[in-house]
Amino acid sequence: MENPDVILIGSGVMSAHLGAMLKQLEPRLTIQVYESADGLARESSDGWNNAGTGHAGLCELSYTPKREADGSVNVGNAIGIFEQFEHTKQFWSYAVASGMVESPGEFIQPIPHLSFVHGQEQVDFLKARHAGLAAHHFFSGMEYTTDRGTIAAWAPLLLEGRSGVPLAATRMEGGTDVNFGGIARKLLSWLGQQEGCGVATGHRVTGLRKKKEGWEVSIRHLATNEVRLNYTRFVFIGAGGGSLPLLQKSGIPEAKGLGGFPIGGQWLICDNAEIVARHSAKVYGQALEAAPTMAVPHLDTRMLDGKKTLLFGPFAAWTSKFLGRNGSFADLPRSIRPDNIATLIRIGFHNLELVRYLIQQGTQSMADRMKVLQVFYPAAKASDWRLIDAGIRVQAIKKTDGQAGIVHYGTEVITNADGTLSALLGASPGASVSVNIMLEVIRKCFAHLLLTPEGHARMKAMIPTFDEDLKLPSNAARFREISARAEELLQLRPPAGT
Ligand SMILES: Cc1cc2nc3c(=O)[nH]c(=O)nc-3n(C[C@H](O)[C@H](O)[C@H](O)COP(=O)(O)OP(=O)(O)OC[C@H]3O[C@@H](n4cnc5c(N)ncnc54)[C@H](O)[C@@H]3O)c2cc1C
Repeated sequence: MENPDVILIGSGVMSAHLGAMLKQLEPRLTIQVYESADGLARESSDGWNNAGTGHAGLCELSYTPKREADGSVNVGNAIGIFEQFEHTKQFWSYAVASGMVESPGEFIQPIPHLSFVHGQEQVDFLKARHAGLAAHHFFSGMEYTTDRGTIAAWAPLLLEGRSGVPLAATRMEGGTDVNFGGIARKLLSWLGQQEGCGVATGHRVTGLRKKKEGWEVSIRHLATNEVRLNYTRFVFIGAGGGSLPLLQKSGIPEAKGLGGFPIGGQWLICDNAEIVARHSAKVYGQALEAAPTMAVPHLDTRMLDGKKTLLFGPFAAWTSKFLGRNGSFADLPRSIRPDNIATLIRIGFHNLELVRYLIQQGTQSMADRMKVLQVFYPAAKASDWRLIDAGIRVQAIKKTDGQAGIVHYGTEVITNADGTLSALLGASPGASVSVNIMLEVIRKCFAHLLLTPEGHARMKAMIPTFDEDLKLPSNAARFREISARAEELLQLRPPAGT
């Protein structure tokens, strides 16, 4: 597409959702996706490069901090993320029902989500967390137990070879394992077949220049080295680790002072089919020492390439690359600018524990990693596991966090003043809430499309509760009805009446 209305940079889960949602919202829009790699969604969104957890607050203990004053647990964040993942499921079920994508089982599978703790202090925490969550209609099905037999029935590996410390677990049916790369590729395949739309791999965006009414975008065709220019009214930088350098090139004032710090991920993968067969859950535990929330370990059943797999991690790894496949070790040094160098230096001083954690992670041996795995699965043997690389997360670093220079863990949408450019930085809770993040981009940059009765109706068809508050107790019945319909369409539960 020459000079389309919209250019999406990168073919990960974020661009895929924005493209699909915009095209459904305004079918006359022309949209072009540029991807530098030779395949679609092969970086962070690829199934092997992330944990595939449909984050809904069901098991992630880091979403529910303890209130030191009274020992109760703040569950507000978990409730918010649950609602955002409902939006994601609504949109995916719409995509299935409308024929945009087929075979939902290829990208989403039901799997129970468990939280598992040991030691009396953690047991008390989990009890308080369960009490806080189970009181809300989103989490009314959550089970809590300290009974070893029940935990063994839920996830036998957790109990094998374990001594007598107090244990507790919660379990929630309705959790999911998601292949985010799978859904991204399906949505992009649909988008590429729509009139006025195109998806080009092997094309790297190398420059962005602001024009009076939009942007001039330079694109290098990597096979021929030919550079061409495209003009567009709106650019979305969904380049994952590649977003920060492009934002810096755009020169928008909103990008001043931003930095990025890459943290690589690694998994232990189980090669013993008999062990893989005995575990069917995602089990999240507590953060170990100063581990950033993204590195809280979990023992995960995954469905990848049509096969059941067992992964444990992530472990953090040092890297200076911003992208796994097409990154360069010069990415980090090249991103350092006069306007962010002070912020980057202050990070080290304000986050000494994190620095220590990264050094420890980067120097650990297989035996050290096995010790962490044995916190979950005490009988684990090194001969059954091997280490593989996961994706890289570039943590966004901002100047304006109150405490100068702190590493910012959330997802950050940066939009320029006239709403002609948006970029996504940061990682957590990531791909699971991509629909909500893209809704935010649409509200900021395409608000006019939502204001017409047709636009509003189209968005309601895609995400029926996008303008409702499902969190309210008065909306409990509405939540159950909408959620059941989405889960049936996604084949996460059998159709009603069967
Ligand atoms: C170890 C790990 C575990 C995770 N676990 C989870 C999880 O369990 N659940 C969850 O919801 N999220 C998880 N995430 C986060 C999630 O993977 C990301 O939030 C999400 O995949 C980001 O998608 P994206 O589209 O922004 O980026 P990406 O998927 O990285 O896509 C960016 C694309 O842009 C392309 N690109 C880069 N530069 C250019 C350029 N100049 N021109 C053209 N193309 C370019 C890249 O090649 C790439 O294909 C995890 C991440 C990691 C690293």
